[in-house]
This record gives sequence, C-alpha cells and structure tokens, in this order.
Amino acid sequence: MNSAANASTIIEQETRHAAGTYPMRDLALVRGSGAHVWDTEGRRYIDCVGGHGVCVLGHCHPAVTQAICDQAAQLVTCPGIFYNDRRAELLAKLAELTGLEHAFLCNSGTEAVEGAFKFARLSTGRPGILAAMRGFHGRTMGALSATWNKNYRAPFEPLVPGISHVPYENLEKLEVAIGDDTAAVILEVVQGEGGVRPGSAEYLQGAERLCRERGALLIVDEVQTGFGRTGKMFAFQHVGVQPDLLCLAKGIAGGVPMGAIALGERVTGIHPGVHGSTFGGNPLACAAALASIQVLQEQDLPAQAAAKGEHLLAKLRGLDAPVIREIRGLGLMVGIELRTRAQSYLEALIGKGVLALPAGPTVLRLLPPLVIEISDLDLVVAAIGEVLRQE
Ligand code: PLP
Repeated sequence: MNSAANASTIIEQETRHAAGTYPMRDLALVRGSGAHVWDTEGRRYIDCVGGHGVCVLGHCHPAVTQAICDQAAQLVTCPGIFYNDRRAELLAKLAELTGLEHAFLCNSGTEAVEGAFKFARLSTGRPGILAAMRGFHGRTMGALSATWNKNYRAPFEPLVPGISHVPYENLEKLEVAIGDDTAAVILEVVQGEGGVRPGSAEYLQGAERLCRERGALLIVDEVQTGFGRTGKMFAFQHVGVQPDLLCLAKGIAGGVPMGAIALGERVTGIHPGVHGSTFGGNPLACAAALASIQVLQEQDLPAQAAAKGEHLLAKLRGLDAPVIREIRGLGLMVGIELRTRAQSYLEALIGKGVLALPAGPTVLRLLPPLVIEISDLDLVVAAIGEVLRQE
C-alpha cells in the first residue's frame, strides 16, 4: 500500500503510531536498487546511509532477492533443535571466512554482543567486561552497558554490573584495568558510532596479548566493519589479531535481519540450554546470507571497497572547506569531522540528493554500498563540498 501512498500520509501515520524513538528525517523511502533509493515523489538519492551500513551489496541485489524468494517457498522457519541444510551451509561458510570454527546465529548486532558477553562469562567464570570509551555496541541492557555514550545509558540505569570503560588506543590504561575478574575485553577495530576512528595495529595487538596473558577473552565487535566494509572481509584482518569472539550483523545477509557470534577455541563450557533464539539461524536469513556472501566473494567487493574508499578519501581531502577538521576512514567507512555540528549539513545533503549519517554531533559519516559507482562517489563529494562551503 505504501508505495502508492503519498509522503504526507506515510509521515502522518508513522508520527502518530510509531514509538517515537528515532530522530526522523522528512523523507519517505519506498524503493531501492544498488546504491540508490527513491522517495514517494520518485526522487532518487545516493544512499550513503545504506541502512546504517547494512547494504554492502546495495539495495535489492537480484541474487539475494532470488535466494529469499526461493527459500520463502521452501522453508522459512526451522528452530535450532533441528538440523537444516541452509544453516549448515552458512555455518561452514562462516567458519571458512572467520577462521573460527563455531558460530551462534541470532538476529541483530546487539544480540550478537549480548551472546558474546554470556559466552565470555560462561567460558571464564569471571564477571568483568571491559569496553572502550567512544565504543558503541547496541541498545539492549548488556550491550548498552558497554556502549560509551552517556545519553544512551543514563536513562536506563542501573545497568548490568561488572561492565566498565577504558580509553581507546591506551594500552597502559588497559593493562591496569584487566584483572583476575575480567572475562573479556570488547573492542571495535574502527569505532563507528564514536566518530569513525580506526584503531592502530599496535593497540589492538597489545589488547590481544594482554587478554591472553591475563586469561581474558578478546571480543571484536565487527557489526559495522564486517563483510567487506573496510576493504577486507573483516577489519581484524587489517591489524593481525585473532578474536576469541567475533560479533557480526548488519552486512551479513543482504539486508535481512541477522547476527552471528563466531567462537574461537578459547571459548569453552557451552552446552545445550545455555543460550538460544527463536528466530536465530532461520533458513530464510541463512539463504539470504549465503547468497550475499557469494556475491561479496565473486565480485571481490572487499577489494572494491578498498579501492573506492581510497578514491573517496583522496577526493574528500582535496575539498577546500575550512569547516573540515579531519577526514578519517578505512575502505568505505568514512568520517568527516567538522568544526561545528553536522546536523544542518546532513539536511542540506538531502536537498542535493545524498543521504549521509552522523557519528556523534560533529562527524558526517558515509557508509555507501560497496557496489557504488565511482561516478556516484564523485557526485557525493561534490555535494558535500557545496554544502560545507555554504554558510
Ligand atoms: N555494534 C556496533 C559496532 C554497531 O555499530 C552496532 C549498530 O550500529 C551495534 C553493535 C548494534 O547493532 P544492531 O543495531 O543491529 O543491534
């Protein structure tokens, strides 16, 4: 019904009936293809929001659409107590890609983080979780407790005990904080929501070493960076660390909700009954993930993200706009830190046909599909240049 509805009807209905948790933009999107989305009036936008980084393959990739349709006619749900062909295939594929032999399948990034915390506590018998300042790990109670932004956490206290924060990129502070009661350290390789801040190999390797020495587990949260976004299949491959638990979601299944926790050999003590999920690992999501991963590999989209990301960063760095403080990024995960608040620029970009995200109050974030054309990236840079030069 909605594709025929006009924007004001859609906006009025959502405004009246949605919970009201999102800072809304005045735009109703009804169609997507590749790196583009369309509104009700048929206006086209270059989508550098990409469903918050979900659309690594772009919107409605035909291989994923076909896999969803085929599987929807075959078997949609199959609880974890029964074996299933699609799930078996996906688990084997994830083991091949991550180098971690086992995985638990769930439905979102925050669930992947929750499960990783449970497995870490189960495995070590310790309660403590160390997370990084500026880190983001999700909105459910455990993941929220590890998320740094006080505005997200404060209204929901008391949060989960045993979870505390240390500065990112500071090994001395981490060394002091990891104790006999630390079950795990959770880190992003590139802090996404925290402003697109890549961590150094030295820091992340140091964190891994400290975890090994102290009997804690290293949880790498690749919910945003996974599946090619940063120019490699997983961002940990840039920095040469081996996670004990790897949290995945967003780009895993071509836009279908899915999450996964990949588990290394240091994760022990798991037995039937310790964790579960009604929808986790359903054949529909598994089929979408298999199709999506196949395209990622066949078209070497991680390599495309690396090359296109370099192009985008170079073009952005060539912009003459004094409001830019710094440009950071890895692959097609790019942040433009401004000397002022980003919100008005995000709105101005919509007028130029470009959708972009914030990452904190002063950073413009771009998470375009990895299939985006260079010509579209150039249009994005031109639009950003125009809005940043307008006062
Ligand atoms: N972890 C990271 C690094 C994220 O960027 C996000 C979402 O942006 C999450 C976890 C939470 O994922 P979800 O929104 O699917 O629950």
